[in-house]
Amino acid sequence: MNLKTNFALLLMLISAILTSAQEVFKNNDLTITKLEKNMWVVETADNTTMYIIEGTKKAMLIDAGTNCEKLDEVMSQITKKPLIVMITHIHPDHAGNIKYFDQIYFHPADTVLTRMMNVEYNGKVNFVKDGEKLDLGGTTIEVLHTPGHTPGSIVLLDRQTGNCYSGDAFGSGQVWMQLRPNSPMKTYIESCKKMEKLMDQGINKIYCGHYPYVKKAYDKAYVTEMRTLAEALVSGTAPEAKPHPQKVSIGCENPMMVTLGGATIVYDPEHIK
Ligand SMILES: [Zn+2]
Ligand SMILES: [Zn+2]
Repeated sequence: MNLKTNFALLLMLISAILTSAQEVFKNNDLTITKLEKNMWVVETADNTTMYIIEGTKKAMLIDAGTNCEKLDEVMSQITKKPLIVMITHIHPDHAGNIKYFDQIYFHPADTVLTRMMNVEYNGKVNFVKDGEKLDLGGTTIEVLHTPGHTPGSIVLLDRQTGNCYSGDAFGSGQVWMQLRPNSPMKTYIESCKKMEKLMDQGINKIYCGHYPYVKKAYDKAYVTEMRTLAEALVSGTAPEAKPHPQKVSIGCENPMMVTLGGATIVYDPEHIK
């Protein structure tokens, strides 16, 4: 290699470092990495995920799990803008630190879970509805109701960047449908169809609720695979299912799991229809 080749390689290396994701904060509970302009991913030590989106007037924190000491103070290291704390659904790995915030936003259909899980919260709850838009200044985030994983699961859309922040609505490779209160599989199929339609209209990246497992955004093919598998379960044509090894407190007695390509559905065999 001559000097010119070495120099070219060095330039390539520097530009790769500059354009790749940058870690901006780390403590024992979490690591925060800048993924895109005005957008950060927060990965917790136990593989749950939050996202921060900053507009010119406000910022949004999507989810607040699991155990993160003084999450409000950690957030102020990233943005000084007033924070809208949006919870995709009321499971402890997504709502575990709501106590640090005096206002939160979620879909009213998940109120049932706050009762089931004895979530204690003394702040103000703002209910959001399908189609609701939140203006952050230069950036608008839209709520889409996508029930299935929980009755009040929502995803957040940023039509300007083409990003969708999905919590557990479409899973992170694996969607959990075995949890109580169960939604019928057809409810989940409708949510997949809604999402696929949006992905024909400019949404092209799905940032899921357990990013550390996948380290990428999903595309439309993933949602299509999920819907195809859910439809096959309903029609009785799905590939052979296996028992799912993990038992959770609000899950059914004998959960089963079935896989098609990159999509896996964990479900309650008593509650497919
Ligand atoms: Zn989760
Ligand atoms: Zn969940």
